[in-house]
Parts: sequence; C-alpha cells; structure tokens
Amino acid sequence: MTHETKMLAYSDKLGADEQVSMEEMISSRIFDEVHGLTDPMGEEDCNALGREILYNVLRKFRPDLFEQELTCYNCKWKGYESDMEKTVAKGNVPDLYERTDDGADSAVGECPECGALIEEA
Ligand SMILES: [Zn+2]
Repeated sequence: MTHETKMLAYSDKLGADEQVSMEEMISSRIFDEVHGLTDPMGEEDCNALGREILYNVLRKFRPDLFEQELTCYNCKWKGYESDMEKTVAKGNVPDLYERTDDGADSAVGECPECGALIEEA
C-alpha cells in the first residue's frame, strides 16, 4: 500500500489522531493473534476478532450507540461517561456520599470542565 492510498483511507470528518490510534489498535490486535497462535487462525477466531474490532471502533467513534449523553447542570458541558476522568464506576470521585442525597445512585462522575457532579437524566 502506498502512502497516498493509505491517506485516502482516512475520513476527514473524524480526527486524524483518533483514526491513527484506532488503526494501530486494530493492527496490533491482528499482529498479536497471528503471532500468538501456533495453529493458523480458524474461521471462528477471525469472526471473534472481527466482532471485537468492530465493537472497539464503534465504541470510539459512536459512543452515543452505547452510552447515554450527559449534560452538566452547572456549565452545560455535554459528553459521555467515557470522556470523564473521575467516575463512580472507577471509584475515584472525591466525597461522593457527602455530595449526593440518594447515596449516589444516579451520580455518574465529575464534569471534566468544571468538576460538578453529573447525574443521569
Ligand atoms: Zn460542568
């Protein structure tokens, strides 16, 4: 593959860095599978790898298909749980129980812009 045809394979509607890192993820997964097996990959192994790669690509570029979009009541930031560094799921939200009335049932995490606690709608 020439450099030129490779460039044409990228979409200018998505970030170049994201596409390159996704491409590296796919290529390293294929490399690991191909070199980690003594037998050649069978049809089922290829199907499973294809499904895993598709999932990772969709998860990266279409998080809306998997996650609910969240809005910060304080600064109106909009995004997804995967954009947040401090989340209830990761267990790294400081003073979570002091900051919620309902034992944090609906809390998702901290707004990456202003640090307010974001809850599910
Ligand atoms: Zn905010």
